[in-house]
Amino acid sequence: MERFTGSFTQQEPIPDEAIEAAVAVMRHGRLHRYNTAPGEAGEVAQLEQEFAEAMGARYALAVASGGYALGCALRALQVAPDEAVLTNAFTLAPVPGAIASLGARPVFVETRPDLTIDMDHLVAQARATGARVLMLSHMRGHICDMERLVALCADLGLTLVEDCAHTMGARWNGTLSGRHGAIACYSTQTYKHLNSGEGGFLTTDDAELMARAVMLSGSYMLYVRHRAAPPPEAFDALRWETPNISGRMDNLRAAILRPQLRRLGMQCAAWTARYRVVEAGLRDTPGLSLIERAEAEDFVGSSFQFRLDGWPEAKIRAYLDRCAARGVELKWFGAAEPQGFTSRYDSWRYARPAPLPGTDRVLAGLIDMRLPLTFSLDDCALIARILRAEAGAVHQAP
Ligand SMILES: *Cc1c(COP(=O)(O)O)cnc(C)c1O
Repeated sequence: MERFTGSFTQQEPIPDEAIEAAVAVMRHGRLHRYNTAPGEAGEVAQLEQEFAEAMGARYALAVASGGYALGCALRALQVAPDEAVLTNAFTLAPVPGAIASLGARPVFVETRPDLTIDMDHLVAQARATGARVLMLSHMRGHICDMERLVALCADLGLTLVEDCAHTMGARWNGTLSGRHGAIACYSTQTYKHLNSGEGGFLTTDDAELMARAVMLSGSYMLYVRHRAAPPPEAFDALRWETPNISGRMDNLRAAILRPQLRRLGMQCAAWTARYRVVEAGLRDTPGLSLIERAEAEDFVGSSFQFRLDGWPEAKIRAYLDRCAARGVELKWFGAAEPQGFTSRYDSWRYARPAPLPGTDRVLAGLIDMRLPLTFSLDDCALIARILRAEAGAVHQAP
């Protein structure tokens, strides 16, 4: 019987070029983004310029985490305490957490079997709450029909904030993810597409929103040092009325990220090649439903999901155990208790979530697996063979 021995949480090492850049920052000691020598831009300012260019955005701000970027986006939009903010129910804890950090109320929208937001329910929730902001999480890299969503947001008067934690480098119909909304947020936490341990970005084309975000991130009135922010005039009025809620990135992390950003396209292609091998290996497995991807969706396959629709809980648990015994570590979104990185909307009790039967149905059978780039294509084929064989064994058992 074949067994897999790789680690699902082992990322690639930091590239040598990035290590050398980090050591150079430590040797000169100017780690704070505004601590620069005469004539020096600093790693963070240069990273922001390069990130804005890579994402096709006018402005970019590097921050302390993806979750900070999300909260900062809502503050820049001047979301008020107690205001309803819409978000998809299938997302990660930092998304409703960012909404709650302003004292605002997360209102969840149903999830379709393809793991994207249910647009009919979005309309209903927008009308019922009068919300003016949708924080759309492209959770696990699944992108909804963005033309339809953008049109709906316009109709409903919703400002769109995109959570691109899993879609940095992905595209919809040729347009980079993050370019459809007013603001996009990204994470550079270890399990995302760039790795600085912790970190994040916020991008926008709107000068006023970026000026607010820069002020919020803690610019100590040094915003003229930014290279991917609007000109000083944009700060004239704002600088008196925008609080400092410190969440800057430092030069050490930026130094690690700049060489990685140059390789992003290559890395995204490598992830998707792995995804396609697992997908091909699992196609037409009885009892196992693949998540069909839209033609327009040029996703980054950094993780893999499939559904075991209608399986009783005992069978799902047996499946997880048998796969684990063969070295394949799966996560399950249907478990009653929230576990590492798979908490569910009904476990965010502070948000007093109303039951969402459609989402419950999808999550009850939803299986999730990381695909780190330390896996080879052969590893992925082996993983698929194990997943397939065990599904057959458990599904057919009485
Ligand atoms: C990782 C992640 C974030 C941001 O997380 P941080 O750990 O704060 O960088 C936001 N949304 C989703 C869906 C994520 O997976």
